[in-house]
Amino acid sequence: MELFYIKTNRVFSWTRKHAWIITVIVAIGGLWYPKLGLVVIPIMLSLTVLSFFKGRYWCGNFCPHGSLFDAVIMPWSRNKKIHPVLRSRITGVLFFSWFAVKLFNKFIKVAGAFGTASFWDKLGFIFVSSYLMVLVVGGTLSLFNSPRSWCHICPMGLLQIFSYRLGKRLGVTQKSDGKITIASKKMCHLCGKCARVCPMQLEPYLELNEENQFDHEKCIRCATCIENCPAGILTLDKLSGAKELCENTDTKGYDSRQKIKAKIGEIKKLGLNLNEYILEFVQPQVVRYQPGQFVLIKIQDDPVMYRAYSIASYDREGKNLSIIIKKAQNGYGTNIIFNQFKVGDSIDLEGPLGEALVVDKSAERVLLIANGIGITPFIPIVEELNRTKSNIHEIKLIYGARTEDDFIYDPYFESCSRKNVRFEYIKVASRPKEDNMRRGYVTDVLKDMQLEGYKIYICGSKAMVQDTVKLLEEQSVKQEDVFFETA
Ligand SMILES: Cc1cc2nc3c(=O)[nH]c(=O)nc-3n(C[C@H](O)[C@H](O)[C@H](O)COP(=O)(O)OP(=O)(O)OC[C@H]3O[C@@H](n4cnc5c(N)ncnc54)[C@H](O)[C@@H]3O)c2cc1C
Ligand code: SF4
Ligand code: SF4
Repeated sequence: MELFYIKTNRVFSWTRKHAWIITVIVAIGGLWYPKLGLVVIPIMLSLTVLSFFKGRYWCGNFCPHGSLFDAVIMPWSRNKKIHPVLRSRITGVLFFSWFAVKLFNKFIKVAGAFGTASFWDKLGFIFVSSYLMVLVVGGTLSLFNSPRSWCHICPMGLLQIFSYRLGKRLGVTQKSDGKITIASKKMCHLCGKCARVCPMQLEPYLELNEENQFDHEKCIRCATCIENCPAGILTLDKLSGAKELCENTDTKGYDSRQKIKAKIGEIKKLGLNLNEYILEFVQPQVVRYQPGQFVLIKIQDDPVMYRAYSIASYDREGKNLSIIIKKAQNGYGTNIIFNQFKVGDSIDLEGPLGEALVVDKSAERVLLIANGIGITPFIPIVEELNRTKSNIHEIKLIYGARTEDDFIYDPYFESCSRKNVRFEYIKVASRPKEDNMRRGYVTDVLKDMQLEGYKIYICGSKAMVQDTVKLLEEQSVKQEDVFFETA
């Protein structure tokens, strides 16, 4: 199974979900009723005009073929790397030229029938046959190569690129063209998820320009990368919006990001598919970080790619750190880490990063909420809060897992709660094995709590974080008291 490219939802609007019906009606229905093909004329005009202002926006948002590939065929697609022949500019230009000549010849032939009863049928059939070709050729490529393989050679795609170039040259696009924009390069995890979910298999994170924008002619402005970026730092913005965004982005917590050479000092097996890695800093030898921050660990060079891991320890001298990694099912990065990383290996890190989970020490009451692997940043946080003097007189940790066996660092948190009266440890399991374990989710625990006056820090799965934030909103907890990160 190809692990690099991820199949994920790309259908974010009604049009994108249903536009494929037009392809089928024109290509199949047109065999019996050729005038259906005439609908393609306004479609071609629209995409040519739109691309003059907004590049290949049509392809990612309205195209009936694109909708067919993403909404219908993708689940069955092999989702492989798009073949280099299809990606090549030469193939695109040759195919476009062949298509244009064929179309021109057909128009000449049909023009002879102008004024006769069959003219509109003959004209319509030209487009019916081209839609049928896309259905067969594009559909086959979509199934056996990648859903959007066709889009690299589509003559209408190239037509849009020509129109876009003209718009650019005339200075029109600056005010109308929304491009993928990153709020701050410092906040990028370099995880490559934007590239792994991109229908066109582009690499936005590696090709950002000085304005923090991804200026690629083949970008179809589909927003799939925006939806999937774990850092939530991508938007579709015009140049003016991009400038504003970069100026207004608060990069606190990311300013001390640096490149670090480290060595794997130890690998501890904490459970099935769960390892703790002790990383010793080599260059620089001392790195200052705060509990609640995370680091990036390089998994490969080409294309360069890192994975983010919460710092699970706190070394006051700043000579090392530890991270706890859960092997993801079919996970690309964890597959590399679990199979290739060995004790003594040199590795590249970037960090420390993150501000969301760095606890405000002026708070009086702190509530930590975690599920699954989201517990890791709370290990050093609890250690620090228990050890150091501060205003905080109450710390509660609510930790959700599937069963009793899935609580990571359970004896540690149990012992902290026994030793420190300020610290309360509440566990909840969705599928407990024993009767004495509380059954449910972290949100079930929260529903019974009085939450006023707490600074609340949440880390865990996207679903848990979303549900918890929603619940806190419903309970009128102030937005400025809630901080979260997904892991
Ligand atoms: C700030 C932060 C802190 C984090 N801290 C931790 C931590 O402390 N510990 C930890 O273990 N993780 C942590 N993570 C998550 C970590 O960064 C990685 O995302 C995680 O290890 C999985 O990486 P991967 O490359 O193996 O998985 P990926 O390959 O990215 O896959 C993730 C999931 O996507 C799905 N998927 C993958 N490939 C496909 C495909 N081809 N088709 C369909 N679905 C697919 C699978 O369900 C898979 O489980 C953190 C993330 C962030 C953002
Ligand atoms: S870069 Fe983003 S918006 Fe552009 S095609 Fe790829 S996923 Fe879509
Ligand atoms: S998906 Fe990853 S690499 Fe791409 S912009 Fe977001 S954080 Fe950066």
